[in-house]
Amino acid sequence: MILEGTPVAAKILEETKKGVGALGFSPGLAIIRVGDDPASKVYVGTKLKRAKECGINGKEYHLPEKSAQKEIASLIQKLNLDDLVHGMILQLPIPKHLNPAPLLELISPKKDVDGLHPVSLGKLFEGIPGFVPATPQGVMEMLAFYKVPIKGKNAVVVGRSNMVGKPMAALLLNANATVEICHSRTDDLGAHTKRADILVVAVGKANLIRGDMVKEGASVVDVGMNRLNGKLCGDVDFGSVSKKASLSPVPKGVGPLTVACLMKNALNAARKARK
Ligand code: NAP
Repeated sequence: MILEGTPVAAKILEETKKGVGALGFSPGLAIIRVGDDPASKVYVGTKLKRAKECGINGKEYHLPEKSAQKEIASLIQKLNLDDLVHGMILQLPIPKHLNPAPLLELISPKKDVDGLHPVSLGKLFEGIPGFVPATPQGVMEMLAFYKVPIKGKNAVVVGRSNMVGKPMAALLLNANATVEICHSRTDDLGAHTKRADILVVAVGKANLIRGDMVKEGASVVDVGMNRLNGKLCGDVDFGSVSKKASLSPVPKGVGPLTVACLMKNALNAARKARK
């Protein structure tokens, strides 16, 4: 089975739009973009487009490549105090001379719709409600949509970033899977991935996972986004893996879900602010 992300994203966006309608006001979503990374420009454009479709008031704050850490910090502090801004994200990556961690920590946990503040990540690991990073949240939505059983299953996550791998592992653990996390120092990656009933790959290396590394009948979610010969592709070799396992495609897999879950988070931030 092909685990298409588009229908799952459409469902989430429809629900979000309805939720915004019921709120009676437009949630404000501030997106800070620093510098001229071409991919970030495209991603932010997509986020603003989806926000508009959902009735969310998305606004981009574009700062120059050479911005100082304290300029970004003061913008974040200003947006923290703005009652019309319910959710705020710092689009990553930011230019190399800047340090993202203290900036992410400055974002009010009440507005942390990317779920990257230590308070949000801590809540996730404690298993209590809070903002969950949109990409792993999207993967969970995909698994639920396609009725993939999780409880008691072996789940393997390849990649351990704060944005994808670690929160992904926490979500699967909270859903009662038995979870392993693999990374660049893992010995014999295939021996681990072959045990997975659910395999989530978030690395950024085209064709890292081949058919011989996957269990027959597994569910494989490919988070990776790579350019190979000018074409967008994931971390999983689609040809060999889709013959023996259910697999999400790239594009039209996890990508649309990430944006949809961000909109859902923005709606939830506005709901909480109203209370
Ligand atoms: P990241 O911060 O660069 O993390 C990559 C992870 O992969 C690291 O934990 C690294 O291990 C691990 N890794 C590297 N080489 C490996 C190997 N040969 N075997 C096993 N593990 C290896 O990347 P990220 O932000 O998590 O993103 C991962 C991928 O997902 C990228 O392609 C990104 O573009 C994509 N992505 C897609 C979406 C979407 O919406 N579809 C959203 C976010 C990210 P170490 O920790 O040991 O270095």
